[in-house]
Amino acid sequence: MSQNLSRETFSEAIEDFLKAVYLLQQEHDRVQTSILAESLGITAPSTTEMAKKLAKANLLVHEPYRGVRLTEAGERVALEIVRHHRLLELFLVQALGYSWDEVHEEAERLEHAVSDLLAQRIAEYLGHPRYDPHGDPIPDSEGIVHSLDLTPLSEWPKNQKGIVARLRDQSPDMLRYLAEKGLTVGSNVEVLTTDPFEGPLTLRVDQHDEVIGVNVALCVLVAPEGTDLDQYG
Ligand SMILES: [Zn+2]
Repeated sequence: MSQNLSRETFSEAIEDFLKAVYLLQQEHDRVQTSILAESLGITAPSTTEMAKKLAKANLLVHEPYRGVRLTEAGERVALEIVRHHRLLELFLVQALGYSWDEVHEEAERLEHAVSDLLAQRIAEYLGHPRYDPHGDPIPDSEGIVHSLDLTPLSEWPKNQKGIVARLRDQSPDMLRYLAEKGLTVGSNVEVLTTDPFEGPLTLRVDQHDEVIGVNVALCVLVAPEGTDLDQYG
């Protein structure tokens, strides 16, 4: 029981807040409270209020006009929630037969209720996976994240084999569209032709040819052929 006490002192709202800062920190040097408010769907004043509260608890550093940044303690909480979320997504797909566009909302609700023990058991059951169904890295139990160096399909060299490793846009509509095109994590992909002036790309996806727009190609991140994406191997 004692190993779970550290987490039980935080509310869902705090966990969601720290997780949102963590995710935004992957893309922005500074996380402005306005971006944070938008991502959390709360008002700017309540974002600032929460940031001040969490700064007092030493979970983040809040500098007016510069935004927020997680402290080591804040990052530890965020990584644990991210780990739960991504393990749950993979568990729902692999064990319960969910499709990859259905799992995010379920995992959003369940991530707060998972104990360290349950997370550990799910990880063992799945064979300690490193990536979730969307290719997002799953932090290990020590909070270590193994992310790959990936290239958007829109910049991938022509006639070079790669594998779909991660999706940037994970809205259910986009995920369903990508699945229709065969562009799921682990599938083989090659760019055959690219039209100029940001025109469409013709791809070979596994055994068939597909045409996608450049905005879709921007969302699909590719790794070199032979990259180990464990659970899909
Ligand atoms: Zn995911």
